Amino acid sequence: MDQGRIAELRDLPVPPARHLIDGAPVAASDGGEMEVRSPLNGAVLTRMAKGTRADADSAVAAARRAFDGGVWAGLAPSARKAVMLKWADLIERNALELAVLGVRENGTEIGMALKAEPMSAAATIRYYAESIDKLYGEIAPTAPGTLGLVHREPAGVVGAIVPWNFPLMIGAWKLGPALAAGCSVVLKPAETASLTLLRIAELALEAGLPDGVLNVVTGPGSDVGAAIAESMDVDVLVFTGSGPTGRRLLEASARSNLKRVYLELGGKSPNIVFADAPDLDEAVKVAANGIFRNAGQVCIAGSRLLVERSIHDTFVEKLAAFTETMKVGDPLDPGTACGAVNSQAQLERNLAFVEEARAQGRTIATGGSRILTETGGYFMAPTVVTGVQPDDRIVREEVFGPVLAVQAFDTEDEAVALANGTDYGLAAAVWTADLSRAHRMVRRIRAGLVHVNTYGGSDLTVPLGGVGQSGNGHDKSLHAFDKYLDLKTAWIKL
Ligand code: ADP
Repeated sequence: MDQGRIAELRDLPVPPARHLIDGAPVAASDGGEMEVRSPLNGAVLTRMAKGTRADADSAVAAARRAFDGGVWAGLAPSARKAVMLKWADLIERNALELAVLGVRENGTEIGMALKAEPMSAAATIRYYAESIDKLYGEIAPTAPGTLGLVHREPAGVVGAIVPWNFPLMIGAWKLGPALAAGCSVVLKPAETASLTLLRIAELALEAGLPDGVLNVVTGPGSDVGAAIAESMDVDVLVFTGSGPTGRRLLEASARSNLKRVYLELGGKSPNIVFADAPDLDEAVKVAANGIFRNAGQVCIAGSRLLVERSIHDTFVEKLAAFTETMKVGDPLDPGTACGAVNSQAQLERNLAFVEEARAQGRTIATGGSRILTETGGYFMAPTVVTGVQPDDRIVREEVFGPVLAVQAFDTEDEAVALANGTDYGLAAAVWTADLSRAHRMVRRIRAGLVHVNTYGGSDLTVPLGGVGQSGNGHDKSLHAFDKYLDLKTAWIKL
């Protein structure tokens, strides 16, 4: 990593941000702006358009015109592919600038940000670009004298509402397949992570994406997001964020045009360590990284640790010791393992969970408080809480911070019961040297992703999605296309 360049970029003034609608930067219709604060020091980084319902409607209208006009969906697949490949190249060429801007806005550690944000977004866009001219329709096995063709057609206008933890990565998981499918998009970034998405949307224009195909509207979810969700002209709504917002989106769909809604709502993912794990030291390290990187603000974070009782005390001791070696602080320092919490509100929420556990008599094995207050930034010591009970809020609810809840178990059945004991079902991990047990556990755990002897780090070729209240629909892999393509049958008498 180019340290000198990072040092230059970290203090660059950030110009005020406007929406991107119909190919042009646009201020909020009522002139409203909101402050963007940096979690690194609590200071104002810049200002951005505080979008209104009217702004969302005008972006949807632009997306509709672009879709109905065929300026994108009507192009040859090879032409769309060329634009998207160029877009991916431009994102990659601007990767460090994008990563540093993103870190200044949302606090992720720079090493992780560079890889998981611009580089991952570029790879995702490239993956879906490459697949555009490799998707075929079907010929159905019908009776003689008939021909059944199954076409896959772009679904129309997509509303994409995304969160602040990995805006580019998650944004690209939606934009890549939606645009590759030929849809037009209205993207609503989170209030605390909009700048990099606006920037890559500008790069899309530079790559040749026609005006109106990708529109970005910033501002409050309760106005901009709600207007997109309630629009009669949005065909598909894709979302990553919290459960309560997900419920509102489903209601909005029911109240408006029954648009299809796909939700990714986070989790309370269990990381299960059996005493026969092949390498306990590795399991300790990966468990810590699986919850503390990006200050725990990862939807698949392994936020519950289930440890077989015979190794529980030793494991917790090693875990606390390792956690204390993780450097917390300035996310633009490449040595930092755990960066800033995204916002003051999130920091307060994290601390409230820990205080409640403390008041219930649970043990704080390490961490438990805000640190580095002199910086003005939102930093929290990685926290391990032991002795928790299945009904504790810290066990059942997603904290979305650097907080790990640890439980002991005695048998495989008990591990499964604890693992499946929340409303969520996003991710999980099993650490064991017993191949049969690994496969049994994969089948028995209710989750969309089960790791074995690792945590995190899957690639684009596999789907990511949840079951239960973790949501529906999948990002990544060719399965993601299902959200953005409609099936159409042509039934022909020969
Ligand atoms: P988080 O707790 O992670 O911030 P949210 O669900 O509040 O999760 O936010 C995720 C995204 O949903 C953000 O872009 C936010 O602006 C948007 N959002 C929040 N409230 C609403 C709403 N009522 N309708 C539509 N979008 C919303």
